Amino acid sequence: MKSYDVAVIGAGVFGSWIAYRLAGEGRTVALVEAYGPAHSRASSSGETRIIRMAYGQDELYTRMSFRSLPLWQDFFEREKQPLFHQTGVLWFGPPGAPPLRESSAVLRKVGVPFEELASAEIAYRYPQIRFDGDAEAIYEPFSGALMARRAVQAVAAAALAEGADFLHELVLPPVGPPGAHGFRTASGAKLLAGTYVFACGPWLRKVFPGVVGGRIHPTRQEVLFFGIPPGDRRFSPPAMPVWLDRFEETLPYGLPEIEQRGFKIAFDAHGPVVDPDTGDRIVERSTVEQARRFFAGRFPALAEAPLIESRVCQYENTSSGDFLIDRHPDWPGVWFAGGGSGHGFKHGPAVGAYVADVLAGRLEAEPRFSLASKQEARLRAVY
Ligand SMILES: Cc1cc2nc3c(=O)[nH]c(=O)nc-3n(C[C@H](O)[C@H](O)[C@H](O)COP(=O)(O)OP(=O)(O)OC[C@H]3O[C@@H](n4cnc5c(N)ncnc54)[C@H](O)[C@@H]3O)c2cc1C
Repeated sequence: MKSYDVAVIGAGVFGSWIAYRLAGEGRTVALVEAYGPAHSRASSSGETRIIRMAYGQDELYTRMSFRSLPLWQDFFEREKQPLFHQTGVLWFGPPGAPPLRESSAVLRKVGVPFEELASAEIAYRYPQIRFDGDAEAIYEPFSGALMARRAVQAVAAAALAEGADFLHELVLPPVGPPGAHGFRTASGAKLLAGTYVFACGPWLRKVFPGVVGGRIHPTRQEVLFFGIPPGDRRFSPPAMPVWLDRFEETLPYGLPEIEQRGFKIAFDAHGPVVDPDTGDRIVERSTVEQARRFFAGRFPALAEAPLIESRVCQYENTSSGDFLIDRHPDWPGVWFAGGGSGHGFKHGPAVGAYVADVLAGRLEAEPRFSLASKQEARLRAVY
């Protein structure tokens, strides 16, 4: 059995970028995946994911996102795959809403280009969005939407082009440290490497029920795509950007119609805990009605729009929303990389670079990513 410098288990957005980065540095890498890169049950599947820089007062993720965007763009340019849509991102809410004010301060400090819009300007630019009273917004002109599933598949393919091996295997939950024999897979094979990075997303708690266990909560998240009226250009770029609504407690957000797939809407509130292998993927009727009620107020032209597609995905939440990227507390050479917590996708390139740097000893570990900082209680702090 071949032995690798690094085995990366999981070919979602985190694992694929980690494998790509390490293979590019000349390490021998195995990218091990139970189903396939960005398969339908993975958190990284789905048509699109938002890339934005605004994170309230959270400078850490603003900086990571600001670093990731050009890395995504360079990658797509090299691969000749146009998988980023620069739609702009509009985050609106009541005047003085703390996340908007805090975001403005951090964006300014970090040097992210953005605009602050008051009610009259928002109404002028976006007459298709209705506000009953005053509103305030921040607009990021260079942010937008990543074509998620295809982007991950492109990164995984690029890792193989850099020399990584793809192993279609389910790594069994380890019962002890790898030692000289490595870890076992469901097919009976052995996985041998100097370092193992478990980038298993919502599966992390199943792979390490003792050490990770309740520190990752996979929650059911429903995504709806509504058909826009024929010939109506108000809900596609450039008229319509990605948007996030801070008026509503249910935290609605959405994407304009991209590649003729419909107007996407989801609610960023955490759903019930699910098992990513066995959970069914049918959306609840009540979510469709919730979206229609919201449209009636905010996007009146879509109040009667037909539902044309739907998806059920899952977040892999840590207690705080901070990523979990750390070494196993007892087993040398074993690492976790996950806890994307509903906002991880955009950061794939920065996570790949971070893991490569920390493994090589070029960078101090970020305390917020530590296992020790994660609790079983749900205390969401990152949005
Ligand atoms: C509905 C929804 C909307 C979201 N919107 C956004 C957004 O707009 N912007 C944003 O930045 N983020 C967003 N996110 C979050 C983001 O998509 C996730 O944080 C990110 O995709 C997580 O990637 P991952 O690689 O950690 O996990 P995954 O993509 O789930 O990958 C883990 C992989 O590990 C494999 N695996 C697990 N166990 C094993 C094993 N034992 N052996 C072999 N393989 C194994 C799995 O098969 C899987 O492919 C959203 C998430 C959802 C669900």
